[in-house]
Amino acid sequence: GLSQLNGHVKPRYVRVNTLKMDVDSAVQELEKLYKVQKDETVPDLLVMPPGSDLHAHHLVMNGRIFLQGKASSMVAAALQPEAGWEVLDACSAPGNKTVHLAALMKGQGKIIACELNQERVNRLEQTIKLSGATNIEVFHGDFLGLNPKDPSFAKVRAILLDPSCSGSGTITDRLDHLLPSHAADDKYDSMRLHKLAVFQKKALAHALSFPQVERVVYSTCSIHQIENEDVVSSVLHLASSLGFKLDTPFPQWQRRGLPVFAGSEHLLRMDPVEDKEGFFIALFTKTNTIDNSES
Ligand code: SAM
Repeated sequence: GLSQLNGHVKPRYVRVNTLKMDVDSAVQELEKLYKVQKDETVPDLLVMPPGSDLHAHHLVMNGRIFLQGKASSMVAAALQPEAGWEVLDACSAPGNKTVHLAALMKGQGKIIACELNQERVNRLEQTIKLSGATNIEVFHGDFLGLNPKDPSFAKVRAILLDPSCSGSGTITDRLDHLLPSHAADDKYDSMRLHKLAVFQKKALAHALSFPQVERVVYSTCSIHQIENEDVVSSVLHLASSLGFKLDTPFPQWQRRGLPVFAGSEHLLRMDPVEDKEGFFIALFTKTNTIDNSES
């Protein structure tokens, strides 16, 4: 089985776009080429042998499956949006998690996909088109500039926040770190991390402040505490004053947050060596006191 994998060989993952195809049909089609297993953690995610090459496969070209890694696929799944909800994807391009949300919501309800960068908005729109989702509204602008009290967000129940990060959990970045480093680079790196963390903290606090939101997921592909546990701990006071608690995404997952504050065991980490990819997920939830039963 896949447990025999060692070294840097990494299984290939594909997420079935259930807006266009059911999982069993995808398995049947892909089994003609490779050995296929269902992922044990994420529904609709398939695991294939390292080196499986599907870039030009017709199921990829027509958006029936997406080449999306396991960590990336865990984020929308951790948010658990329900069909019919309104959901905000705060930093959304190129949109892999946005269209995953649409699939989890069975194409029902509404997703607002916010993205600051114009070129990346174009990529987001291509991804949405490929997915076949028709309930995604793209907003080109700064997430921090959105007014949580604006009536357009009055029904937003969940927010996915996957902000710009250092990418230190990804393989290419790790290869960079094997090269000789210079003091000037280290200084630059620490300033860059600090700048990213300032934005990440503001964005997470902002996400928690939307009045009807009851689920917020924060994720990065970074291994740095400053972008992960420290960001979460910076909003704990605000979160609890708003009625949020830290919840446990994928409780069966073994590797949790670094033990740097009480409650960090709720957080989820992936390790770049052991899990072949560095990643971080935090989930905040609250039980809304306002009656939502009619919606
Ligand atoms: N969630 C995406 C996916 O799975 O395909 C990846 C998101 S990427 C890590 C972060 C994105 O946030 C970038 O596209 C970046 O341009 C965008 N971004 C950065 N600052 C932003 C801001 N203030 N408001 C909205 N989007 C922002």
